[in-house]
Amino acid sequence: MYKIMTPGPTQVAENVRNARARECTNPDLDMAFYDYYKETCELISHLLHTDNETLILSGEGILGLEAACASLTEHGDRVLVLDNGEYGRGFQDFVKIYGGEPVLYTTDYEEEIDVADLEEYLKNDHAFKYATVVHCDTPSGRLNDISKICPLLKQYGILTVVDSVSAMFGEYVNVDDFKIDLLCGGSQKAVSAPPGLTFVTLSDDVKKAVRGRKTPVASFYCNLAVFEGYYEKQWFPYTMPISDIYGLREALENIKRDTGMLERHKRLAQKVRNTLRENGIALYGKSGFSNTVTAFMVPEGITDREILCTLKEKYRIMLAGSFGQFAGKLVRIGHMGENATEENVDEVLRAILEIVKKR
Ligand SMILES: *Cc1c(COP(=O)(O)O)cnc(C)c1O
Repeated sequence: MYKIMTPGPTQVAENVRNARARECTNPDLDMAFYDYYKETCELISHLLHTDNETLILSGEGILGLEAACASLTEHGDRVLVLDNGEYGRGFQDFVKIYGGEPVLYTTDYEEEIDVADLEEYLKNDHAFKYATVVHCDTPSGRLNDISKICPLLKQYGILTVVDSVSAMFGEYVNVDDFKIDLLCGGSQKAVSAPPGLTFVTLSDDVKKAVRGRKTPVASFYCNLAVFEGYYEKQWFPYTMPISDIYGLREALENIKRDTGMLERHKRLAQKVRNTLRENGIALYGKSGFSNTVTAFMVPEGITDREILCTLKEKYRIMLAGSFGQFAGKLVRIGHMGENATEENVDEVLRAILEIVKKR
């Protein structure tokens, strides 16, 4: 077994693993499961500081992003795609698949999105149905300030779709204060449940937009409207993965109990960044460093593969390289969720420094 220190999937606590082994009922026919599902959704909303409805979907993180675009996009809709990272840019594909017209707002990948610049841009052009925003762009570890970006977009009447899959619970998210219309999360990042589930939190404005469509959603699985009234009707659009949801619930209860979670993420991320810098290892980027993942530049005289393989074989630690334009250039430490303990972080830093010094 390796010590998993990747930016998702992350380590899974024993009580979460055990919860997944619990005896199952028939989730379609047992009315008690509708209550359990709804309570679990409400717990997510509660942890995200909103009364907006959350839905848990059967599929990993990407499903939430695609479902958001599928449910909102109609032919010819202009969609503002904020792009300062691989996931940011990637949203344009979903917009296109469902007939929308993505308009990229591309900024320096080394910097967080500058809110004043975005405001200038919006003054000239704000005819967008919705905008996509990535909270933490995981391949580069870039964090965007959604507490300022989303209210600004909303001010111009633009709905906000936020991918916080790799940030929420390691970074503060307040759906109501930030005015987030559609928030996407996943089970396998800071939540620290195994991969397999995504969840979306929907504002009344987003529900209204989906209801007000002129054309039907070109998907069943990605159509968020198929869940409407599921509780009253006691009918799920498809059979819910009950064991995955048992595990997710336990992971969420862990988060609820862990009142020092955000503070610990902040402190450990700071420690990772400081230690790497003090030892001559450059971080990727100039601003917007996430408290959930750190991407560092592969130092001269060694490759990402050498670092990752030595970590695995000699230290039994698994880290991640990166992809897209960062392939081969960056190595990433995921210090989120169950990974984010002092002990884990110290062990990883010690190993990285030994490897880099020996090169
Ligand atoms: C992990 C992640 C997702 C989900 O995608 P995976 O296929 O599980 O990697 C979506 N968005 C972001 C920003 C992520 O980090």
